This record gives sequence, C-alpha cells and structure tokens, in this order.
Amino acid sequence: MNEKTLKILEKYYGYKNFRKGQEKIIESILEKKDLLAIMPTGAGKSICYQIPALIFHGITIVISPLISLMKDQVDSLRSIGIEAAYINSSLDNDELKEIFYGLKNNKYKIIYVSPERLDSKIFLEVVDAIDVSQIAIDEAHCVSQWGHDFRVSYRKIGSFISRRDNKPVITAFTATASLEVRNDIVRMLNLNDPEIFVNGFDRENLEISIIKEGRKERFLKEYIQKHSDISGIIYCATRKDVDSIYEEITNLGYQVGKYHAGLKDMERKEFQDMFIKDKINIMIATNAFGMGIDKPNIRFVIHNNMPQSIEAYYQEIGRAGRDGEKSECILLFTPGDIHLQKYLIDTGLRSEQRKIIAYKKLQDMASLVYSADCYRKYILNYFGEEAIDNCNNCSNCLSEGEVTDKTVESQKVLSCIGRMKSGFGITMVVDVLRGSKSQKIINYNFHTLSTYGIMKEYKKDELIAFVNTLISHGVIDQVEGTYPILKLNNLSVKVLKGEHRVLLKEAKVKDYGFKENNLFNILKEIRFSIASEEGIPPYMVFGDVTLKEMSTKLPETKEELLEISGVGEIKCDKYGFKFAEEIRKYIIENNTIKSNNDVNSINNKKFYVNSDENLYQKLRNLRETIALKENKIPYSIIHQNSLKEISGRYPLTLEELGDISGIGPKKIEAYGRDIICIVKNYIEDNNLNRNWQVKGRLKLVIDGEERENEEIVIDMLNEGYEISEISNRTEISLSTILGYVTEYIKENGEILFKLNIDNLYKKEEEEEILMACKRFGVEKIGEIKKSLDPRIKYESIRAVILKNYYNIV
Ligand code: ADP
Repeated sequence: MNEKTLKILEKYYGYKNFRKGQEKIIESILEKKDLLAIMPTGAGKSICYQIPALIFHGITIVISPLISLMKDQVDSLRSIGIEAAYINSSLDNDELKEIFYGLKNNKYKIIYVSPERLDSKIFLEVVDAIDVSQIAIDEAHCVSQWGHDFRVSYRKIGSFISRRDNKPVITAFTATASLEVRNDIVRMLNLNDPEIFVNGFDRENLEISIIKEGRKERFLKEYIQKHSDISGIIYCATRKDVDSIYEEITNLGYQVGKYHAGLKDMERKEFQDMFIKDKINIMIATNAFGMGIDKPNIRFVIHNNMPQSIEAYYQEIGRAGRDGEKSECILLFTPGDIHLQKYLIDTGLRSEQRKIIAYKKLQDMASLVYSADCYRKYILNYFGEEAIDNCNNCSNCLSEGEVTDKTVESQKVLSCIGRMKSGFGITMVVDVLRGSKSQKIINYNFHTLSTYGIMKEYKKDELIAFVNTLISHGVIDQVEGTYPILKLNNLSVKVLKGEHRVLLKEAKVKDYGFKENNLFNILKEIRFSIASEEGIPPYMVFGDVTLKEMSTKLPETKEELLEISGVGEIKCDKYGFKFAEEIRKYIIENNTIKSNNDVNSINNKKFYVNSDENLYQKLRNLRETIALKENKIPYSIIHQNSLKEISGRYPLTLEELGDISGIGPKKIEAYGRDIICIVKNYIEDNNLNRNWQVKGRLKLVIDGEERENEEIVIDMLNEGYEISEISNRTEISLSTILGYVTEYIKENGEILFKLNIDNLYKKEEEEEILMACKRFGVEKIGEIKKSLDPRIKYESIRAVILKNYYNIV
C-alpha cells in the first residue's frame, strides 16, 4: 500500500482505507497514464482524482457538467483544508477576477470548470500560463451521443486538451458502462493508450425490491408513516403524479418537498436546499431531480413508476446509500407503467431513431421487472458484468412476506376474460366480475355470463389491483391497441386447468433495520445546528457513518476522534470538540462505559473513588464563581460528579485532569489551571500524600454509589422528591429525568409515584407539540424538536408526551 496516498486519505478525509479500486486508479494517475474509470455512483470517484491533485506539482482542472455539484465539491474540499475554486456562469466578474488572480498565484490545487467555459478567451489565457498536471473529466459519458446525458459543450473538451503543448495526464470518470459510450469517450477525449478501470458495478448496500402488488398509494402511505425520519426520494414518471402524491402526503401532516420542471426555479431550489440540509427528509420528484445531488445519507429511493431504462433506473437508485450504509430501493410496478412510458417516449422524442432505441431500452426494463431471477444479477449482466451467485439482497432472492395461494381467484378472472371472448380492457372485465349494472354490460349481454358478479365482494380498486398483479406476473397478457386489452396466454390456460398455482406474496412495509441510538440522535442535532449556523449541508460537517461510529466508540480526546472514520485533521479541530463535549456529557449522564475489545473484563473492573468533602466544596465555589462570570448554569460548566472525582483523586497536572470523567480538552484549557491550583494548595495545606492511579476506561464508582443514574432518579421519585429537586441534587437535566421515567413506564407498565409536570409547558405549546407527535410519532423526539419553535424545550416535549400518551396526571 502506498503510504503517501494513505496518509493523505487519513489526514484530509479521515478515512482509514481505500475503497475497492481507488488505490489502483490513484497509482495509475500518479504514473501519469491517461485513464478511463467506470465506477457506479457513490463508489468514490472524486477521491481518485483529488488525491493525485494534492500530490502533483501543478494544478488539477476538473471539468464537471453540474453547477450545483461544483459548489458542493469545492465547499467540501475547503472544509477539509484543500484549496479549491470553481468557475462557471454563477460567478460575477469580481469573483472571477479573484479566482483568476488566485490561479496565477498558485493558490489552488484543484479548480472545477464547466465545459461552457473551455473556449472563453480570458480563461484560456490564464490557464495557458499555469502549470496544469491533470485534467479530470467528471461524468465523461456526457461527451457521447449514446449516453443519456449528452452535452454539446462536452465536445469542446477535446480541443481544450489538445491545445496544450505539455499534455497533462487526462483522467475520465463515468458511471455509464456501455461499450459505445466507452469508445466514444476514448476517441473524443483523445485519450492516449488509456488504462481502463471497470470497477464492479454492484452496489452491495442497496436492497432492490420490485413490488407488483398494485396498491401503490397505500404502500407509499404506510412506508412514509414508518420512515418519515430518514432521507429518501420518491420518483414519479409525471409532474402530475408528483403534485398529487405531494399533496396527499402533505395532507397526512408530513413536511416533504417536491421537484419537477414545471415548478418555478426558486421553488425548486428551495425544496432542494431543504432536502440537502436535512430540513425535510423526503423529496417527491420526477427524474429531473438528482443529478448534482451528492447527499450521502439517502436511505431509500422509491419508484412510483417503472423508469424508461435500466440505465436510468440504476442511476436513480444509485443516489441511495452513497455513504455505504444499507439502503432500500423499491420499484412499485403496475403494467400501466409500460404504457405510460411508451406514451412519454412517443410524445417526447422527435427522432425516429432515438425512439427505436428508447423502445428497446424500455423493453429491457420491462424484462427486468418480469424476470423471476435475481434482479441484481439481471442488472449486472445487463451492464456486461458477470454475477455468479444470487444476491440474497433483492425481492426475488429474499422470500419475505406471506405467500398466499390465489389460484381460485385467478381462475375466476381468467375464465371471465375467456367468456368475454377477449377484446376488453381491465375496467370492463372488473365490472363484469363485480356484477355492475351498467348499460354497456347489458348491451354486450355480459350479465348473462356465469362469471357475472362472481367477485362482488371485492372493491373496484382492489380488483383492478389484483388483475394488474396477475398481468405483472405474466398470468394474463395485456395487448397494445387503441387502448390496452386483456388476453389469455399459455400460462393462463395452465392456471385454468389447475396445472399451475398462482402464489402471490403480500408486499409489506418492513421496519427499516436502522435503529438509531440516543446519542446518535443527539450528535445529529449538534451537526444540524453547526450546519445551520454555517449555512452548509449537515453531511459536510460529518456523515451519518461517522456520527454512528462516534455514538458507539464514544471518542473524547483528539486522538480518539481521529480514529473515527471520516474525521480528518481539519474537521477534528473545527468541529470535533463540540461532539466530544456532548459525548462526555452523555457518558456521565448515562453512566456509560466505552466499549472496546475487552469490554467484558473492563465491565467487571471498577475504579473506586471516595470524595473529599472539603476539597469538593472548594471546587464547587470555584465553579460558582466561573458560572457567575460566564452567566451559565453551574453544572453546564463541570458536572458535580467530576468535581467529586477530582476531590477524591487530586490530579496535579493537566494530563492527569484529562483522566477525570467529563473533562475534555476545552474544559481543561479553560479551567484546568485554576482547578489544579486549588488541588495543589489543598494538598499542601493538609499535608496529604496522594497515590495517583490511572483510571483509563474503567467504570467509575464514587462514594460507593453503584447504581446507574436511571435507578437513582427512579428511587428518588419513589421517595417522594419533586423532579426539580432531583435535577438540582443530581445535576441531571429535567429532560433526561423525564426520559428515564418514560423508559421506566415502557418497561414496567406504570409508576407508583406522583409526577408533577404540568408546569413544564404552556397550554399553547401543548397543542403544537401534540401535532408534531402525530406527524413524527412519539419516539422521534429529535424530529419533533426540530419542527417546533426553538423556544420550546425538550422537557416540555417529554412532559406533554408523558401526559398525553402515557396518561400521567
Ligand atoms: P461518486 O462520485 O463515485 O458518486 P463520491 O466521490 O461522491 O462518489 O463518494 C461517495 C461517498 O463516499 C462520499 O461521501 C465520500 O466521502 C465517500 N468515500 C469515498 N471514498 C471513501 C473511502 N475510501 N472510505 C470511506 N468513504 C469514502
């Protein structure tokens, strides 16, 4: 492994290992060989050209088609301490001048440029005069007419490259794999005997499901009820669908966004911004949304309609789970989707040749949907990649959901179609089966058929959905014409003869297996507030994966923070301590111990401390003085348990102070010297002999108190203490105390003590809180808090929930 590149990866990006393919690509670029890398969305292309850019002497120019993405990339790079800028039409003249000045003075290592700029005279003048080491072309497939995102301006790249005397290394990146596109890229960019890397197309973290059950609306509603607190996109084929689903979900009380070409620019931009900044979790959109969205924590992508091609489908689902975390991709299919997409191709494309290609691609997509084999295998094969085993991560491989035998119901439908002598569409067949008295049915004499009214018990929508499901499973054919009509096929005959059973699986919304622990939610809130203050998307502070690792490894020091994946040096200094402070507080409040490899042996070992009352009082006085000066509540400065621990252990150096629970570098810097001074004087005055021992990660027991905080609080409540008194005595916040009570009730069913909580909220707040509870569910305290006026406190939310949902009177 190349140490230099690995060091850069760790120092700037905070990642410990390269992902598949990255290292080889970087090595090849460093050897100055032209390169074409084909990697799926989310595989980590950017790092492949960014790390060489940092090592090369000259500058790296990145050509990228998406203005919004350029800004994000540059912001991300700056946030980790890499000098970068972008040039595109969004800049005014002064900004451009400043960047050109920076370019001439070697200020940047990386510069992003939109292809439209490549023949601008002034840009060329500046670039001709500087040392360019690499030209990286992102989304390189845009150069090819075979690709689905062809850009005329990408044609300028070839001549831009060839005008340079000293040809830099040219690197091209794309997620599109087809051979025509690949050849086009090599040819149009004049790549010189390039190394071609095709990085496995599989995105193992994406679970692919195709649901052919028909009742899309019901499924969507149920899904959102269960997952309103995680980020996801719902794709629809038409603007009309986007608008109507948006309205329905909004009516249910959820705040979601929408995006399609028919909205005003401002409106679109605002929704997109809210989505990226985690202010709303769900976006309902046409395929116009997503290019240029780098948000790494999208946990689900649902297609309300089948897309037009496997390429489009794979690109769209690729937006889920960029951070490598498990994510769900669900396609809700009904046969009508195929007709809808045919219609859209018919009316949307002029060129006959392009229409033919589009129909062919649509056919491939439909074949995927109808396939009974592993979906992932099908897709990978489509992209020319061999997949040997079944994936066990798609709905064809996983046999979840209850299977029901629908053979008899199917036979009723089939025999009805047979008796109607074909030639009719779904609605007519359904009307006959339900025994409709419409004139049309009488006219055709269908009321005399033996199948008339044999499925009366079904609602119309239900039966339509069932017939659609049968079409989706190939039991009935739907044939094109002026309008689609139903026909029996070979499989229908087998079903009618009882030679083939129709076994259908009920589509169930699964509970997403991503349980968030409490600390993770707390860290997410801190991230949200930092991001809001700085006006950047939360993921630019730290990704979900990083916060999750923090919430289990509980880093408190700089060294420990740097161990966490995603924490590089700059971000550690900039944000790390805010997170460490909160982690420390959490450890104390919950009396948690850190897990590590030998957690069991640590669990069994305890570190006993007896506090020294006199020294403790002196330390309390110091805290009082600081609190007055800083205008803060004393326990927010240092918790009393930390003071007790100090008083019993007598730390005399700043390093020793670092071994006290609840005191991190920031507090040591601010108050460490004063504390040590008091301890030193006390030892001298009292002629004490101390025996310093390192506590490390052992569990602390002060003055023989072995109970967890939760136990202490519940015991005090049982003894009749008011919660405000308990909070004063234990220095545990009211909200945490109410959290303990809630957990206690969940476990034990009831409480035997009295709890006065009416004074913790105002009447008018109660209503607002209850509405938010309805929207997010009572477990989602973080989401509820975020949606309310910031003045409404956590304890008010918890009190209202206890009163209304747990019947505390
Ligand atoms: P692509 O351009 O291929 O779609 P990105 O370059 O945007 O993907 O990377 C996707 C995500 O993966 C980003 O959040 C990035 O920080 C992360 N990532 C990239 N390389 C690594 C790595 N070696 N370890 C962990 N995360 C990585």
